[in-house]
Amino acid sequence: MSLIFTPLGIRGIFGHGFDVSAAMLLANIFGRRLGKGSLVVVGRDTRPSGEALERAVVAGLVSAGVNVLNIGIAPTPTIEWATDRYGADGGVVISASHNPPEWNALKLLSREGILLHPDEMESLREEFGRGVFESVPWNELGREESYDVTADYLEDLMRFVDIDRVRESKLKVCLDVNGGAGAYVTPYLLNELGVKTITINSAPGIFVRDLEPRPDTLEDLSKIVVATGSDLGLAHDTDADRLTLVTESGDVLPEDMTLALVVDYVLERRGGGKLVVNVASSRIFDHIAKRRNAEIYRTPVGEAYVAHKMKEVGATVGGEGSCGGVILPEFHLGRDGPLAASLILELISSRGSSLSDILEGFPRYQVLRRNFPSTKEWEELGRKLIRLAKEEGMEVDLTDGVRISSGELWALVRPSKTEHKIRVLVEGKERREAERLMEEISKLLS
Ligand code: MG
Repeated sequence: MSLIFTPLGIRGIFGHGFDVSAAMLLANIFGRRLGKGSLVVVGRDTRPSGEALERAVVAGLVSAGVNVLNIGIAPTPTIEWATDRYGADGGVVISASHNPPEWNALKLLSREGILLHPDEMESLREEFGRGVFESVPWNELGREESYDVTADYLEDLMRFVDIDRVRESKLKVCLDVNGGAGAYVTPYLLNELGVKTITINSAPGIFVRDLEPRPDTLEDLSKIVVATGSDLGLAHDTDADRLTLVTESGDVLPEDMTLALVVDYVLERRGGGKLVVNVASSRIFDHIAKRRNAEIYRTPVGEAYVAHKMKEVGATVGGEGSCGGVILPEFHLGRDGPLAASLILELISSRGSSLSDILEGFPRYQVLRRNFPSTKEWEELGRKLIRLAKEEGMEVDLTDGVRISSGELWALVRPSKTEHKIRVLVEGKERREAERLMEEISKLLS
């Protein structure tokens, strides 16, 4: 496995092509582009390789004459927010999000704290390939300053939450941060909101469960929510841009439901607006857009695509349903797990009912996901899928990979942007029809 340069950043297994020299080079190129005297925010998650990569990124930047505001371990949304809020010229996020612990990645941010547009990443790839590191003279090196931004971030986040309402409802919550950067923010947020909190797996850098917060990896949280009589369970991935919910009766909700609940609530309060989600997000968003009088836009998968589209259309709210990532542009243009958690708490408080009861007001879908090793040529697979769709009388959408749909039943097949895999997602009202479609697609892939 070697280093992967994707439209969303560089990533790989630490020590196998992705190492401190790659990180230092990319940071140096990024710094030179921004120019001497610029300011860059740097932050990271809790992975064991994070510290070494952070030193490399800082070295690459200061060598380019760039000043660094190092905010240390922080959720990705906090780094994005800080880049925008402290008037920086760019940001570097060191995190492989939900990938296994041996992985790590660098994501680059614009001055607004948005992931660089994939086109801009493409031009960096060429320069990265040339491998030239350049340093300014000794007396023009940049300087590094460290600052803990947690208090500022939480204070700003609170502007978007009805604090009194949440405090009055005296909720009890079980939080699973799985040793990630969320441990540095979300427990303090819940405390501020007067929520009685039981935090599990909170030792930074110790990953007790699989890093991706999915129904099949959150069994412990589900049991503890029920055993402690909590009102709900909250789970982050390692960089806390994602949030998965567990109901008071221990049901782990599909990732789409976090965004669906937040989007529905925000659009209801605003009386409509514009909603942006990716093509892998559930049909539930079409229903919500319709009932809340909102316009819906769909983009390729990846925060960069969603965030740039949100900026372009002046979106009210959006995100990536397929991973429970909520974006509220007034706060910042990135998926934000702590923000999502506080809006979910406000929603439950304002409805005065349980999470299960609130879910009764939403249509339910059956979702199936499978990953296949990407051994076959993607182009050839794409053609076969389009042929399959035509045989079945289904519509084809090529926004990202191949999306085929017929009424409420749809499937998305696409090469992963972060791993050497083909991802297949099928959603339908009936489990049997979803399974049948998954079976047909699987035959093409295996
Ligand atoms: Mg993440």
